[in-house]
Amino acid sequence: MSGILRLPYRMASTSSVPAALLRSAAYVGGSWLQSSDSATFPVLDPATGTELVKVADCGPRECREAVNAAAKAFQSWKDVPSKERSILLRKWYDLMIQHKDELARIITAENGKPTKEALGEIAYAAGFLEWYSEEARRIYGDVISVPMKDRRALALKQPVGVASIITPWNFPSAMITRKVGAALAAGCTVVMKPAEDTPLSALALAELAHQAGIPAGVYNVVPCSREKAPAVGEVLCTHPSVAKISFTGSTATGKILLRLAADSVKRVSMELGGHAPFIVFDSADLDKAAAGALACKFRNSGQTCVSANRFLVQKGIQDAFVKKLSALMAKELHVGNGFDEGVTQGPLINDRAVDKVERHIKDAVSQGARLVAGGKPSDAGRNFYEPTLLSNVTTQMLCAKEETFGPLAPVIEFDTEEEAIAIANSANVGLAGYFYSQDPAQIWRVAERLEVGMVGVNEGLLSSVECPFGGVKQSGIGREGSKYGIDEYLEVKYVCFGGL
Ligand code: NAP
Repeated sequence: MSGILRLPYRMASTSSVPAALLRSAAYVGGSWLQSSDSATFPVLDPATGTELVKVADCGPRECREAVNAAAKAFQSWKDVPSKERSILLRKWYDLMIQHKDELARIITAENGKPTKEALGEIAYAAGFLEWYSEEARRIYGDVISVPMKDRRALALKQPVGVASIITPWNFPSAMITRKVGAALAAGCTVVMKPAEDTPLSALALAELAHQAGIPAGVYNVVPCSREKAPAVGEVLCTHPSVAKISFTGSTATGKILLRLAADSVKRVSMELGGHAPFIVFDSADLDKAAAGALACKFRNSGQTCVSANRFLVQKGIQDAFVKKLSALMAKELHVGNGFDEGVTQGPLINDRAVDKVERHIKDAVSQGARLVAGGKPSDAGRNFYEPTLLSNVTTQMLCAKEETFGPLAPVIEFDTEEEAIAIANSANVGLAGYFYSQDPAQIWRVAERLEVGMVGVNEGLLSSVECPFGGVKQSGIGREGSKYGIDEYLEVKYVCFGGL
């Protein structure tokens, strides 16, 4: 936003990144590499503005080198027995758990989320390596019955090949392992590009992969600055040796990558933006609904793709719900440096994130929304924003139309179930949706009618390693986690045995 007044950073620097896992070079073919022109970019602590470290700023050249290393490693990794792949993934998982505190500190330092949440992310992230170490041994094909007496038919499952992986900053560790665990279990090798804001988690994972004995070239990391992302992305999406692209991030970037992938018809998985409705019907248990709303909205300061972005509340209970949620926010949410005890709301990732929250609030208030709580940058300093609750929000306001990705809870009132479903389904994205109701018939109806990939019924937190994660409409293509996630990295090959 032009002309915006930026608060100074006020936080003292309490960030310290554990040196043992701090890496600043790219990880290619099992070695640590600087970029060929020695370019670097700074990684900043969003709470303090302190530079944590300068990281190698890779370009297309390093990216091609990484793809070549992955292509070479694929030739042997695809034939490594699944039990051995499983053991290596399990070792990687064990090392993550062993180093969970250091990994969590890295997340808090580069992303800002409170240490408790960062530890939760590490448990979730490591869980994907554990889960896929188990799934690696359960990749089954089929024997198919055919009508010809002299034939037998098989469906074999084979790894697709080299996978390009591009991840966002909001879950710097889990968004990697959710993809890489499945890819490696399937027998694929990967080149991954982390977000400019949070490359340190990806590089720490590379160090642990190295220690676990994951062979050279199987997991490669090419960090780069935002400036170089389009050129690196182009290599990742068009290189002839790449078979598969898996991306998590905004819908806008996903569309760019899909266009690039189209030229050589690569397999794609896209985990894109959301705009989750959170519906509270008048039959709901309001205390549970308010507690669910708080957890769903304010985790990671609202910077979560499955975060509730629109609260749709039935007319008769609207005032009571707003009162309960605002009381909970005042009691439970504490803004500050993620390293400090008791803090639940860290900084937003950067200036652009703060600007978007501010823009959505100003737009809503200018059109008649009522500010119940928050509504301005926090005294904690630059990048911090007060948890905000707005009532009297209408579907015409910006915050009801696009993902805010910040600590803003806008409440829209509705009359009937039909109306709530119509508002919820009016979005062109459909990642997660939530609703609270005690009416069993309504629960079935609404769960089936919401146009989303994931539904939380009387539950505000739904992600789990064992369950399929993904969206419909412009929220993406494919599923991650669960038994389905591995299929994204497998081809089905039909083999027909004739003349028997
Ligand atoms: P983003 O701008 O799309 O960035 C995501 C990743 O793509 C980053 O690594 C970014 O690099 C990279 N990138 C950007 N432009 C690129 C290009 N032209 N070529 C190649 N790579 C490119 O998304 P974000 O704003 O950081 O992340 C928030 C979004 O992600 C939200 O919309 C959220 O809903 C979505 N998300 C979805 C899921 C899910 O599972 N569905 C999970 C988490 C987040 P730089 O960092 O260098 O720009």
